Amino acid sequence: MTIIDMMNNGFELYIHIPFCVKKCLYCDFLSFTADAEVKEKYVRALCEEIISAGEERQGVSLSSVFIGGGTPSILPKEAISKIMECIRENFVICKDAEITIECNPGTVDAEKLGIYRECGINRISFGLQSAQDDELKRLGRIHTFDDFVSSYESAVEAGFTNINVDLMSDIPGQTVKSWEDTLRKVCGLEHAPAHISAYSLIVEEDTPFGEMQSEGKLDIPDEDTDREMYHMTPRILSEFGYGRYEISNYSKPGFECRHNVGYWTGVPYYGAGIDAASYYDHSRYVNTDDIESYMRDPVSCHYLTEKLGSEDLMSEYMILGLRMTKGVSFSEFERRFDVSMKEKYGHQIAGFEKDGLLVSAGDFLKLTEKGLDLANVVMRGFI
Ligand code: SF4
Repeated sequence: MTIIDMMNNGFELYIHIPFCVKKCLYCDFLSFTADAEVKEKYVRALCEEIISAGEERQGVSLSSVFIGGGTPSILPKEAISKIMECIRENFVICKDAEITIECNPGTVDAEKLGIYRECGINRISFGLQSAQDDELKRLGRIHTFDDFVSSYESAVEAGFTNINVDLMSDIPGQTVKSWEDTLRKVCGLEHAPAHISAYSLIVEEDTPFGEMQSEGKLDIPDEDTDREMYHMTPRILSEFGYGRYEISNYSKPGFECRHNVGYWTGVPYYGAGIDAASYYDHSRYVNTDDIESYMRDPVSCHYLTEKLGSEDLMSEYMILGLRMTKGVSFSEFERRFDVSMKEKYGHQIAGFEKDGLLVSAGDFLKLTEKGLDLANVVMRGFI
């Protein structure tokens, strides 16, 4: 790890759990079903990798830990305790670190959630997607809205105050009215979530949805409906006190997801588990996506894929940083790269400002309302 990385607001750890109860129809993540023996073997391999990664980073403090997937909450509770114990023994975790676990409704109960709290997890991220049971069914999800409410209430009872709920627009058969109802039901929960991620469905080719689309059998909302839902989201969420801090992410004040903000601001991270990506020493790495090879030798499955030069780093600083509504800092850019942002990207910035897509506000350059709408166009300008 370089000195620049160490100075760069901490270090993050991501743990990938690739198991799910069943595959959702739109999912192209690396996730699958597995029996208890494979899960146990995988957790053993993960711990081996965590030990090795920790040995190489002595003295590094973790500002966040994110246990994601897949469905981490599908693992027996002892497995999560074991992983957390291994992390604590091999890394220094900052006192105020954000420690998240992704959970699917219906895969957690009061006992499991209590154990999560005991082992230091302080944030839960629920993949709900919709409050409409017919939409959940169409997505191939394993749970109903009532299952979610019951898991959510158990998390609140277990003492979690920092809970995220993932929601999805552009679901087949979804209407503006049903999306509004989903937003209002989630925001109106007793002990409302601190954070909401609201993404649109992206239909990936090699999924059942991809096939259905190519056969003309996928009834996704048309572009006007999509835009109406997109514009309605920040409006409704702000009624309930959520601020938009990134294109698709909203939170109550002070509950922005530190793990994601770290990613958008270039904080280095190590990803453990199959197919997990890492970024440190200004380089990208990825682990094998083959579970058998991983379980045989988890330590040798970590490969360098790209060394980033200063041009790449500057471009990435702009593209990821502009995703946040706060924007990118002129002074931080100059501090990191020894050249001013205007000197490097003056031409692009002037063009986008003229088109009303970017605006300067004090030390920050940020997307305007129109720019948020056309973020992809702006990002392309900095590649
Ligand atoms: S729960 Fe998440 S990771 Fe698992 S199949 Fe569904 S979308 Fe994919």
